[in-house]
Amino acid sequence: MFDKILIANRGEIALRVLRACKELGIATVAVHSTADAEAMHVKLADESVCIGPPPARESYLNVPALLAACEITGAEAVHPGYGFLSENARFAEILADHNVQFIGPSPEHIRLMGDKIEAKRTAARLGIPVVPGSEGAVSSDAEALKIARKIGFPVLVKAAAGGGGRGMKLAENEGALGQALATARAEAKAAFGYDTLYLEKYLVHPRHIEIQVLGDGNGHAIHLGERDCSLQRRHQKVWEESPSPALNAEQRGKIGATVARAMGELKYLGAGTVEFLYENGEFYFIEMNTRLQVEHPVTEMITGIDLVNEQIRIAAGGSRLPEQNDVVFAGHAIECRINAENPQTFAPSPGRISYYYAPGGLGVRVDSAVYQGYVIPPFYDSLIAKLIVVGKTRNECLARLKRALHEYVIEGVETTLPLFRTLVRNADIVDGRYDIHWLERFLEQGGLEK
Ligand code: ADP
Repeated sequence: MFDKILIANRGEIALRVLRACKELGIATVAVHSTADAEAMHVKLADESVCIGPPPARESYLNVPALLAACEITGAEAVHPGYGFLSENARFAEILADHNVQFIGPSPEHIRLMGDKIEAKRTAARLGIPVVPGSEGAVSSDAEALKIARKIGFPVLVKAAAGGGGRGMKLAENEGALGQALATARAEAKAAFGYDTLYLEKYLVHPRHIEIQVLGDGNGHAIHLGERDCSLQRRHQKVWEESPSPALNAEQRGKIGATVARAMGELKYLGAGTVEFLYENGEFYFIEMNTRLQVEHPVTEMITGIDLVNEQIRIAAGGSRLPEQNDVVFAGHAIECRINAENPQTFAPSPGRISYYYAPGGLGVRVDSAVYQGYVIPPFYDSLIAKLIVVGKTRNECLARLKRALHEYVIEGVETTLPLFRTLVRNADIVDGRYDIHWLERFLEQGGLEK
């Protein structure tokens, strides 16, 4: 086992990793930008190193500074959290070159899944169902038109390097395809420096359902069930739950077994998430994330398995994964992503938290790094807390969530708490009847003002 781990991240996820390390008796090194000197992850870590000025490019993405921090502190491994360098294969390679263990999958698998065209090809080869579309990249507008006619409009133009919904454009019909290709290409070039595009059939009313996996790198992999992340705004997840209100145990077992078998065949190492769209009883692979996900706590709450602990033990080598039969799903969990944003316009709302009171009680978990008096810097993601609630049934979970949202007080900045207080009372949400477009439609129709 490692003696010391450096956490190459900030905010709630840095704290999440730190907690797992403490429970394993591993010393922690926090890194921070000058804007984060007062951050909770810095206060709670055993040691901390300032790695640069506020812009992420100069601090949290600054590989030489991170390497220097490893060397100064003698950290043997790096946990990247999510975002930042978590899906950067080159970073994993550079760490290996310096005898520091990257806590995550192999650089080959990160690279493979980072290219969404290659990822889809690999998924199909491993027997995972994929969304119909172009087989690989589209090389010209004329070729794109030919393929789009074959799969049928509407089609979605996607970037091979895609992420965070960027480089993704819908073409409803032939007339709109040229523009969609041009915009997606420009967006992909600007965001990723790489503008290879591919086409996918646009599914009209799908849910987003993803499967959590763990692999030992030697051909054994298990699944930890699904998360339903259909409630999204601008392709960003807002509310996640497990189990999905749309699946029964048999469907879960079937797709889970397919994914676990495929990940075993791939010799996948560590934690990963295979994302699907789900429509009319069919699953369609869209991508795989080779890292811990923001929404991982809902899986932890219904399986009792600490995913970060598993990641660390897998990376350290020599420890066994749980067997599939030992994974028991109990109850229902929901996570709300609380952002420092205006709940109507979603404009970021950084600043000082003048009053803070977090909910508690049975079945309530708050993953957050903020506290009363903390100043939310304007430089990073606006996620400030995740409220995760578990109950024996979905109804109990919803009642508990309603109660926890009522207790939660954050003053001084605007937050998305009012959105969740509305959602938890909505008849469609209560009935579990929603798809990936539900939330945007609800907001467009002024659902929040009513
Ligand atoms: P990114 O990596 O940019 O987040 P994804 O491929 O994971 O992109 O897709 C993000 C979201 O976009 C999905 O959760 C879904 O809401 C929507 N989406 C992606 N592919 C399709 C599709 N073929 N049809 C309909 N919606 C899609």
